[in-house]
Amino acid sequence: MHKRGLLGIESLAIEQIQQVLDRARFYQPLQARTGKKLDTLLGKTIIHIFYESSTRTRTSFEIAAKRLGADTVTITAKGSSVDKGESLLDTLNTLAAMRPDAIVMRHSASGAPHFLARYLETPIINAGDGSHEHPTQALLDALTILDHKPTLAGLRVAIIGDIVHSRVARSNLHLLTKFGAQVVLCGPPPMLPQAFECFSPNVSRTFHIEEAITGADVIMMLRVQLERHGASFVASPNEYFRFYGLQLEHLQAARPDAIVMHPGPINRGREIGSEVADLPRSVILNQVENGIAVRMAVLDLLLTRNFSQPIEELQKTGT
Ligand code: ASP
Repeated sequence: MHKRGLLGIESLAIEQIQQVLDRARFYQPLQARTGKKLDTLLGKTIIHIFYESSTRTRTSFEIAAKRLGADTVTITAKGSSVDKGESLLDTLNTLAAMRPDAIVMRHSASGAPHFLARYLETPIINAGDGSHEHPTQALLDALTILDHKPTLAGLRVAIIGDIVHSRVARSNLHLLTKFGAQVVLCGPPPMLPQAFECFSPNVSRTFHIEEAITGADVIMMLRVQLERHGASFVASPNEYFRFYGLQLEHLQAARPDAIVMHPGPINRGREIGSEVADLPRSVILNQVENGIAVRMAVLDLLLTRNFSQPIEELQKTGT
């Protein structure tokens, strides 16, 4: 069954990803204009519901919707009926009863938006579900890479850090391998997935940051997801930085035109050195900027062109 919404990269066709990137390129120049407001989504209402902290994603979804002329409402778990014990499905059904045109949601449980999409008619956009997927992050990352490289095919992309607990890594893995990039995953043993080959034969794994970075076109650093596993996976921030933090000397092994990425929030001195984060080849703020263009593209395609993706049908019971 296909349904309007954006739940993840895994089930998207290459053509759909391409469609979002093309549309995002159309919106990119808007960021530099003084008058940024369009009327593409005039009369539409978008609800953002965030059960987990967010700075970049929440703000940029909201700005994207507003730049397209939509009305927005933002709810965080604190201060909503979640505090009063309401179930996720009841809360979302309540919001859907107010007839928004889309619901953008972030939740700490992997699969939460997929579950809701089976019940709700309102299109759902996944703004991050647990350690599962963060589709708009992978889309904005692809757009940022393509601002610097002609194509994704054949690029060597090193993803370094807490891979297992990262929805950013997972969505990027799906996207990058669909487009033929070579992905090297690197991190301490408890943070590296065992079964990574399932993505593609183009994915490899190493425990050594120097090996991951050698010949890399793109270095994507990840934050240690302490909120998903406490501090138990890491000996100390200093020790983590010593073995897995990106430092200036590492860059010598990368390609001379390699770019450094990070989805944010960055922890300087833990996963990335300040001297690297602030280099001209660090595109971290370009990622943030592209987040708006990508989210405008997603909202536009979803609400004006019926962008849809496959979702699992509800199990029929009691027959
Ligand atoms: N902001 C990204 C996310 O929500 C990355 C992170 O938090 O580390 O997944």
